[in-house]
Amino acid sequence: MRMSQLFVPTLREVPAEAETKSHQLMLRAGLIRKAMSGVYSYLPLGWRVIHKIEQIIREEMDRAGGQELLLPIAQPAEIWRESGRWEVYGDEMFRLKDRHGRELCLGPTHEEMVTVLVRDEVRSYRQLPLLLYQIQNKYRDELRPRFGLMRGREFIMKDLYSFDRDEAGLRESYARMLEAYRRVFRRCGLEARAVEADPGAIGGTGSHEFMVLAETGEAAVVSCAACGYAANVEKAECPPPKAHPDQETAKLPTPGEAATAAAGPVPVATPEKRTIDEVAAFLEVSPSSLIKTLFYEVEGELVALLLRGDHQVNEFKLERLVTPSRWRLAEPAEVARRLGLPVGFVGPVGLSERGVQLWADHAVMAMAHGITGANRADTHLLGVRPGVDFAPHRVLDLREAEEGDPCPRCGAPLLGSRGIEVGHLFMLGTKYSKPLGATYLDEAGVEHPLVMGSYGIGVGRTAAAAIEQHHDADGIVWPVPICPAEVTVVPVNAAEGAQREAAERVYAELGEAGIEAVLDDRDERPGVKFKDADLIGFPWRITVGPKGLAEAAVELRHRATGRTELVGLGSVAARIREAVVPAREGL
Ligand code: ATP
Ligand code: MG
Repeated sequence: MRMSQLFVPTLREVPAEAETKSHQLMLRAGLIRKAMSGVYSYLPLGWRVIHKIEQIIREEMDRAGGQELLLPIAQPAEIWRESGRWEVYGDEMFRLKDRHGRELCLGPTHEEMVTVLVRDEVRSYRQLPLLLYQIQNKYRDELRPRFGLMRGREFIMKDLYSFDRDEAGLRESYARMLEAYRRVFRRCGLEARAVEADPGAIGGTGSHEFMVLAETGEAAVVSCAACGYAANVEKAECPPPKAHPDQETAKLPTPGEAATAAAGPVPVATPEKRTIDEVAAFLEVSPSSLIKTLFYEVEGELVALLLRGDHQVNEFKLERLVTPSRWRLAEPAEVARRLGLPVGFVGPVGLSERGVQLWADHAVMAMAHGITGANRADTHLLGVRPGVDFAPHRVLDLREAEEGDPCPRCGAPLLGSRGIEVGHLFMLGTKYSKPLGATYLDEAGVEHPLVMGSYGIGVGRTAAAAIEQHHDADGIVWPVPICPAEVTVVPVNAAEGAQREAAERVYAELGEAGIEAVLDDRDERPGVKFKDADLIGFPWRITVGPKGLAEAAVELRHRATGRTELVGLGSVAARIREAVVPAREGL
């Protein structure tokens, strides 16, 4: 590859639309260009990176027993109706109609498609286990496409589906995939870890995500240094606390209203103070002394969720408790109208008499007393005792785990971090095979539903995550196994005969030695060429200049460490092979 001809439009300026380092660097290094919101073109060097990641994935899927195929992007609505997901999937699905008015979608995922294929073709236990995968574009009309390839509306995914005869078989396939994923991400040069996850809309019984720890990650993870537990906060359990946490007693605004908290609710004036923060500041207490009341409409009925003031509701947990998609956050104004109560001053005392279900989080029930809205304008109640002054219909785990919470396994304090979800594994069980009728016959000729798993890796997201983990102020520092090219050969002055000739010779030798090289034969100042080399992030740079050539040598520079060495012209290819070849495996 010659830089003079290579289609790699690098940029000096940081593009204004790119917030994260990986997005900025992918644009600046000329790897991708935006076509529209969440949809990108992959330019030649970016495409090479994608290819290499795909190849690593392919090798590891094959090693684990997977067989590659290609399923269609366009999928008929009927199979999604059969599984029950046509209605449930919501606005993330791109739906269209053909000229005959038949509905179809662009596949956001392929459980239905692959299950129908296997249903029609697989009959016997002898054909199991069956692991099928593809690497292909997926379409999801994401609410907030952002960060370049990290969250696109069209993106490349590897998705593998396992079919087993029973749960034990599924667990074996699942374990095999966990190990394959570890190898994939290690080979891509990524530090990734498996965390427990929420199965979400894909459904099923067990799930893990592979997280690349990075500050810009969209996912929040809690982990325990003591026992190794790690989970997405969407999933992390928050068991009931063992004892009442220390509580501050609310400072009363007027001495006349003083009452001991334990004696029951005492109204206090809180004019115009509606939010947790406003009330806490006004009463000079911490938000953890308050109990917040959030309204949801669950299957048409109003449900009040009660959480400690400083805790966040976890809607993923709510989704697991109710019929999926049959709930929504209720508008405060709508609630106020329905109940005849003032917005911002609503509380649990007396709410059930108004026909509202009360669901309290464990942490609320562990409070001796708390501050709540009084169901009266400009008023709150002090000293409200959960279980005494109001009786919840259900006590549940409703909140998001956070740093400092006790580990649900061993009790040690959890650490918080952010992560990029690069891979996701699900135990599906019979969630799809049953409604779609995918069965097999056992030795005795008895019919059983197939037991399934599904396993995704975001290919573009993996590339972006690799950049998040491997960059510096000058640009990308590619892990060797996924770099766009291994070496760039840069003559300081390409117009100078001896330099040009030596550079051409080195470039040709590298090619013969099976090294991927880019020759920067552009008529540019050396500074420009060096800057581009660093920005694009070739792992090694060979500089051909007058000083070195005087000693029949070139300079070899390692991008990651900045270390340089002089290498005799005669031994360049051998020296490069020695450095590059072992690094290719990435293990
Ligand atoms: P997220 O929670 O980030 O939306 P998800 O749980 O919806 O992810 P899966 O359906 O499990 O994702 O898809 C498998 C993998 O595909 C993810 O682990 C991720 O690497 C990748 N992926 C998912 N959505 C996108 C997207 N919009 N853009 C790029 N990659 C994606
Ligand atoms: Mg998603």
